[in-house]
Amino acid sequence: MKKLIMVKYAELTTKKDNRSFFINTLEKNIKKALENYNIEIKKDYFRMFIIPSEDDINEVLNILKNIFGIHALSLCYFTTDKSLDNIYELSKCVIKENTTFKVETNRSDKTFEIKSMELSRLVGSYLLKNVNNLKVDVHNPVVTVNIEVRKEGVYVYGLDIKGKGGYPTGTLGKALLMLSGGIDSIVAGYQMMKRGVTLDFVYFESLPHTSLEARQKVIDLAKVLKKYGNTGKLYIVPFTKIQESIYKDLDNTYMITIMRRMMYRIAERLIKRKKINAIVNGESVGQVASQTLTSMKVVNNVTNYPILRPLSSFDKLEIIEIAKQIGTYDISILPYEDCCTIFVPPHPVINPDLTHAIKEEEKFDFSLIDDAVKNIFIIDLNKEETSDLL
Ligand code: ATP
Ligand code: MG
Repeated sequence: MKKLIMVKYAELTTKKDNRSFFINTLEKNIKKALENYNIEIKKDYFRMFIIPSEDDINEVLNILKNIFGIHALSLCYFTTDKSLDNIYELSKCVIKENTTFKVETNRSDKTFEIKSMELSRLVGSYLLKNVNNLKVDVHNPVVTVNIEVRKEGVYVYGLDIKGKGGYPTGTLGKALLMLSGGIDSIVAGYQMMKRGVTLDFVYFESLPHTSLEARQKVIDLAKVLKKYGNTGKLYIVPFTKIQESIYKDLDNTYMITIMRRMMYRIAERLIKRKKINAIVNGESVGQVASQTLTSMKVVNNVTNYPILRPLSSFDKLEIIEIAKQIGTYDISILPYEDCCTIFVPPHPVINPDLTHAIKEEEKFDFSLIDDAVKNIFIIDLNKEETSDLL
């Protein structure tokens, strides 16, 4: 008898022609996540089997629970011995006492002499006699004992363990996440990864108003996403001069609006160069003054690239809950401030006017943007090595 992990694909059913690409990417992501384990993988159009060594099975299961593109996982028992006694034994392995169940059989090996309905009935009565306090419930059972009789042997599996769902990371292109050290943006990145998108990160830094600890926080946050299969680059933009100039020379109530327009201008320059298709941020409608619909409209106006805001409809408490689940919350609440919190005006405009923003920007020296882009440097999150953009 062999213990395997059965992986059921999420949402891939809708991807007719691309299906193999999605399945192959999922396999690649699984292999990468399990590179320290000795595993064998078998896959077909409908599901995948992961065969680890017996000792590793729980650890491997826990890693698989974090991989996007998996709808559900089941512990599955496989045997080449198709005797009825053996099938009984295996079905006992996939069910515990005190529960409701039904048995479903799929017999693709037509040389197997017992028909599906009959085998389900036999296994059902065997389990009722041999496991305490079971009840059959054909409509809504807690456990479905699945038996598949195939040419190569018999597979038996029971309860589904919920997977993360979504698409395999890397199947739907790359986006640039505007990553601050706060709670929201990293959660926004995680949500996009769930839709198959890989991420690079950009952090606008205002040394010495912000600290190196704040930078480290951003690095640590970005690294958490490795667990979910993301290994992108972090671009650090020296933003001090831009921010100081906005602070000193422009209408204070428009400081955040204009600062964000500058951020998008730089992000756009970056993604054009790196052939990335979209920008992601952690905005949520109404959370702060710069996150009203009018603000978003005025800020968006500087770029034609899609700006994805996966948290736009989330409450803060919902965001915090995800941050805790994915392991970013404790890093995010460390006290080091990012650049936005330092230059917060007392009365930021809630409904900015585009014409006024453009007028104010006439006082701004746009060569500061060129300088900032020139001085962007890259941190490779795998090696913690730093290099220049050019
Ligand atoms: P967060 O918790 O993600 O910091 P926030 O609620 O503090 O978000 P803002 O400060 O208004 O909101 O920022 C909105 C979004 O802009 C952030 O979610 C993030 O995507 C982006 N952003 C803000 N500051 C920076 C920064 N210094 N570098 C990169 N992106 C930033
Ligand atoms: Mg913030």
